[in-house]
Amino acid sequence: MTENAVKKITTHTPEEIERVAEWTKTEDYKEKNFAREALVVNPAHACQPLGAQMVASGFAETLPFVHGSQGCASYFRSTFNRHFREPSAATCDAMTEDGAVFGGQNNLFEGLENAYTLYKPKMMAVYTTCMPEVIGDDLTAFIKNAKAAGHVPEDLPIPYANTPSFNGTHIHGFDSMLKGILEYLTKDRKVEDKCTGKLNLIPGFDGNIGNLREYQRILDLFEIPFVMMPDISEVFDSGCDGNYKLYPGGTPLEEAAESINGKVTMSLQKWTTPHTMRFVKSEYSGVHEVMAMPMGIEKTDALLMKLSELFDKPVPEELKKERARAVDAMTDGHQYIHGKKFAVYGDPDYLLGIVSFLLEMGAHPHHIVCSRSNKKFKKEMEALLETSEYGAGCTVHVNRDLWHLRSLIFTDPVDGIIGDTHGKFVARDTGLPLFRVGFPIIDRINLHRSPVVGYQGVINLMSMICNKFLDIKDETCEDQWFEMMR
Ligand code: SF4
Repeated sequence: MTENAVKKITTHTPEEIERVAEWTKTEDYKEKNFAREALVVNPAHACQPLGAQMVASGFAETLPFVHGSQGCASYFRSTFNRHFREPSAATCDAMTEDGAVFGGQNNLFEGLENAYTLYKPKMMAVYTTCMPEVIGDDLTAFIKNAKAAGHVPEDLPIPYANTPSFNGTHIHGFDSMLKGILEYLTKDRKVEDKCTGKLNLIPGFDGNIGNLREYQRILDLFEIPFVMMPDISEVFDSGCDGNYKLYPGGTPLEEAAESINGKVTMSLQKWTTPHTMRFVKSEYSGVHEVMAMPMGIEKTDALLMKLSELFDKPVPEELKKERARAVDAMTDGHQYIHGKKFAVYGDPDYLLGIVSFLLEMGAHPHHIVCSRSNKKFKKEMEALLETSEYGAGCTVHVNRDLWHLRSLIFTDPVDGIIGDTHGKFVARDTGLPLFRVGFPIIDRINLHRSPVVGYQGVINLMSMICNKFLDIKDETCEDQWFEMMR
């Protein structure tokens, strides 16, 4: 009976399975793989609303609110749970079939009222999943109606963002939600000639809390007053003191509202924040800057020099010493990474940073895959590759997934892969080490606490990569080459 329970529709001999598996490693298969149009296999990105949820989580006493399906909301929460190994507070109005037919207004009314009564947030940030976007729910009207009908107080801030996943990824959702919140909070708060004297720092979509703490440390060393928007550092990395806090940390709402009168507003992720920065440029006082993520020596130098210039402060001695240590570490370790080829994938801003670091180390970012971007990004990446002799022969593939990457690696091998946990299947298939950088990292611990930006990030990246290559050497070399010293 048990044997009959699963009836195989088609059976294949082990030889046939082996033959096809080998064929998937060939040029012939690669050609067919790159010709596919209607199917995506293991893309290196997440849904738009997940990015929106990261933003919503990063504002103080704010409840992230999903207008849409329960299953989507569980996916966003569990991804954050698994990556940060922390609770991720967010609620959902659980639209089902009737919502899909009649619209989700009633779900939103009930959801907002229940969530406000139970969790007493100071702000609720609403973002959508695909279903309400497909049927065209009008959030402006729905939220206005909810307030008018008394489901939530009139003065409760409820910014929102449309985040359809069929048209974008987590970085686009991040951008929409951040713009939505800043638009809402800063309305009528601009005061001519007023200046907070602060830097408004927009780190972008970054699951690495170590990076955020590194930015904070650098700014403290400079003695530059700042507000980070959003700030998820305490939200997803607060200590365990025996008490559960529903709203730990986050950017204070009043500081976010005042950010419109800031001295400088700076984004560190150009490709993640275009709409937010367009809004900032049109509405915010002060200087507006978009800098590259400071990965590698050159990009970190550029950020520190810019901060020094904008705030008229010298680069702190401590940071100069750190730079010297990072350069020393690069010199010590270059022999283990120089000339190695890598396949890298991930978000555009992270990719530009990783490639910059690899080129500085004399390594080749041989295959570069971005599963959602455009020709402009490709051009920018190619221009970066052209700045170094180690970029020669490296190729950029936009709107390709990790199944494409598998074909690239089998037909044109590399020494290692750099990206998030999604790449572990490619790494296993190809027998290569995977250096985990990006989001999500759900199969290793504490990497989200280890910065990859700044001079310390250079040392951390180098240590991770070089030590793994040394491990491989120790594990695979013949006895006569097994040495104490490497
Ligand atoms: S693609 Fe759309 S429906 Fe699917 S999980 Fe993401 S938001 Fe939900």
